[in-house]
Amino acid sequence: MKPLSSQARAIKPSATLAINAISQDLKAKGVDVVSFGAGETDFFTPDHIKAAGIAAIEQNKSYYTSSSGIAPLKSAICGYLDRTFGLKYENKNICVSSGAKHVLYIAMRVMLNPGDEVILPAPYWVTYEEAIRMCGAVPVILNTDESTRFKISPEQLAAAVTERTKCVILTNPSNPTGMLYSEEELSGLAKVIVDNDLYLIDDEIYATLVYEGKFVSAAAVDPELTKRTVIVNGVSKTYAMTGWRIGFAAGPAEIIKLMDTYLSHSTGNASNIAQYASIAAYAGDQECVAKMHAEFTKRRAYFLERVAAMDKVSCLPPDGAFYIFMNVSKTFGSTLCGEKIDNADDFAQALLKHGLVATVPGAAFGSQNHIRWSYATSIENIKKGLDRLERFLNNEPTA
Ligand code: PMP
Ligand code: GLU
Repeated sequence: MKPLSSQARAIKPSATLAINAISQDLKAKGVDVVSFGAGETDFFTPDHIKAAGIAAIEQNKSYYTSSSGIAPLKSAICGYLDRTFGLKYENKNICVSSGAKHVLYIAMRVMLNPGDEVILPAPYWVTYEEAIRMCGAVPVILNTDESTRFKISPEQLAAAVTERTKCVILTNPSNPTGMLYSEEELSGLAKVIVDNDLYLIDDEIYATLVYEGKFVSAAAVDPELTKRTVIVNGVSKTYAMTGWRIGFAAGPAEIIKLMDTYLSHSTGNASNIAQYASIAAYAGDQECVAKMHAEFTKRRAYFLERVAAMDKVSCLPPDGAFYIFMNVSKTFGSTLCGEKIDNADDFAQALLKHGLVATVPGAAFGSQNHIRWSYATSIENIKKGLDRLERFLNNEPTA
């Protein structure tokens, strides 16, 4: 038989979702694994949002919608962006689709030609690199480390720009590092982006999950940048709605229109029912967001306190999101629970095998020295996982 698409065969599967599958498989076999894998909150979708979804089913919202989403949801998103971040958009600037992941892909699809370069600061969320390649474009990785709090500088950005550069991707706050760009830092980057006639994709999916500093959208720092920025966001993290699959883009009408056309031949539209539930999320009571934020704040503080007491691993306190990006490089060259540790992959595999703790190795995020822990899980689980980590570091296996 003829070979399948070479582009498709070159795509690496999502490491975050793979870890999820491994821990679910182990749990199904009765293994008591504690999972800090995929970034998905353990909270239930708030009741008023669920009720709106149920009402939508009962009201027979079972038909196709416009490809880029229903008007009342777009209006609710505009209201939310204005109230929460001071961003002024109209319905023609909004495109809704099946999760922020899909929105990101479609935004890249309509921006990029094969061979275009996309600047991607590392550590980055696993999907960007593959999505860029799925468009036939070329990721240009800018490495960062703890010394700059994993952030790129305007100078570093400017030095990476070539004639083929089309777009820059920022995640603010970041998955996996949790770092937040300040208004001043964003203004510096904005100048380089505008001066070089580039586009910006600003992934703001964790914007409401900030514990240190103040979140400012890149689209709010410079009107010239706003004209060339597509914000990506969605209900998954803020409203504990990962499985409902609703994400949106906010950006220049011309880009949004092309995304709508693209969607009309791909997904058609995001689930009508989930769109109605998302209106309740964006336009409804925001108390649920504050409650979840308070719980994440406690979990983050507990995690940091425990890590501070360990000497073989370390982490920078994350400003936002719900991840700890742990540096495990001090263990390289040593043996833990009988396993030789030479890199973060070895560490994560040995921790899973002997400590029964699932984390995501940093290689998938473009870092060889780190593993990522999602603290979107209960304090009890965090305690159990960190107790096991401590034992593992002392060469005492749990399994
Ligand atoms: N961006 C980032 C940075 C993420 O961590 C995620 C999590 N999956 C997404 C986008 C996509 O979210 P979703 O597709 O669930 O809306
Ligand atoms: N964004 C989450 C993560 O980084 C969910 C999994 C995924 O979609 O990659 O773990």
